[in-house]
Amino acid sequence: MFADIVPSLKRNMPDLRGRLLPNQSLAELTWFRVGGPAQVLFMPEDEADLAYFLEHLPAEIPVTVIGLGSNLIVRDGGVPGVVIRLGRGFNEVKVESASRVRAGTAVPDVKVSRAAQEAAIAGLAFFRGIPGAVGGALRMNGGAYGRETKDALIEARGVDRAGRVRVFSNGDMHYTYRHCGAPEDIIFTGALFQGAPGDPVAIAAEMDKITESREATQPIKSRTGGSTFKNPPGHKAWQLIDAAGCRGFKIGDAQVSQMHCNFLINLGSASAADIETLGETVRKRVKENSGTELEWEIKRIGVAKPA
Ligand SMILES: Cc1cc2nc3c(=O)[nH]c(=O)nc-3n(C[C@H](O)[C@H](O)[C@H](O)COP(=O)(O)OP(=O)(O)OC[C@H]3O[C@@H](n4cnc5c(N)ncnc54)[C@H](O)[C@@H]3O)c2cc1C
Repeated sequence: MFADIVPSLKRNMPDLRGRLLPNQSLAELTWFRVGGPAQVLFMPEDEADLAYFLEHLPAEIPVTVIGLGSNLIVRDGGVPGVVIRLGRGFNEVKVESASRVRAGTAVPDVKVSRAAQEAAIAGLAFFRGIPGAVGGALRMNGGAYGRETKDALIEARGVDRAGRVRVFSNGDMHYTYRHCGAPEDIIFTGALFQGAPGDPVAIAAEMDKITESREATQPIKSRTGGSTFKNPPGHKAWQLIDAAGCRGFKIGDAQVSQMHCNFLINLGSASAADIETLGETVRKRVKENSGTELEWEIKRIGVAKPA
C-alpha cells in the first residue's frame, strides 16, 4: 500500500472532473493479470481534463500511462505516483474522408480496422491483429503482417507533462521498429490515420485471414503480453529462444509458451517477478547460446515487492 495522496491532489485541482482513486489494483487492467496497485489511478474525462490535471500535478510526482495492458508487466510492488488510464472521452472513432480515420487513443485497434473496413478504406486491416488500444499502438509503433502504425499515421495529438496539448506529424514520431521517438512524457490522446480506397469484401477477407492465422500460431487466449522480445536485426527472437532450449521452460507459474516461444504465459498464479525472472533467464540463455542480446519489447513498470 502506498500513502494516500488523493486528498492533497484534489485540494490542488478544484476543477478536476475525472476520477482519482488511491491504491487501485492494476492486475485486472493487464493481460498478464499480475502486479501491484497504482498509488493513484486517474481516469480523465477528456483531453482538457487531462491537461488540467497535468498542469496542476506537482512536478515531483511521476506519471505513467497505460492502455489495454497488452504489452505490460506491472511489478508486484505497484507503481508509485499516478497511473493514467484513458476511457470515455477518448473512445470515439470517426471516418473523416474516403481514406482517413480519426480515433481517440482509448479506441481498441480492432475498432479502427472495423471502421475502416466498413467505410471501404484499405490499409488499416493490420490493426485487426493487435489487441491494444490506439495509444499503445502510437507509443509502440504496433504492427503486424507487414504493416505498422508508422505506415498509416498522419498525425498524433497528445498532452505533455506540463499540460500543453501538442500535435506530432508522422516524422515527429521518429518511428523505428516497435519504438516511438516522441518525448517520453507525452500522453497521446488522438490519431489521424490514412488508408486508401478499397473493396470492403476484400478487406473483410484480409481481416478474417489475420484472425485465423493468429488463432493458429499465438496463445491469444492466455494471460500473456504478446511478443516478449524484439526481433534482433536479421533474426527471429522465437527461433533464438527455441535454439537455446527454452520452449516450455517454467519458473513458478510463468512459462515460455509451447505454441510461440517469444510469448511468456501466466499459467494462473505467477507473480510479476516470476514472469520477469523467466524473461531475464531466457535472455541469459539466448546470449550464452547464440551471442545475441535480446531486447525487451514488453514494457515493465513499477517497483518490485520489498523482500
Ligand atoms: C496476444 C497478443 C498479441 C500481440 N500481437 C502484437 C502484434 O502482432 N504486433 C504488435 O505490435 N504488438 C502485439 N502485441 C503487443 C501489444 O498488443 C501492442 O504493443 C499494443 O500496441 C499495446 O497497446 P496497449 O493499449 O495494450 O498498451 P499497454 O500495453 O497498456 O502499454 C504499452 C506502452 O504504451 C504506452 N501507452 C499506452 N497508451 C498510451 C498513450 N495514450 N499515450 C502514450 N503512451 C501510451 C504505455 O505507457 C506503455 O509504454 C500483442 C499482445 C498480445 C497480448
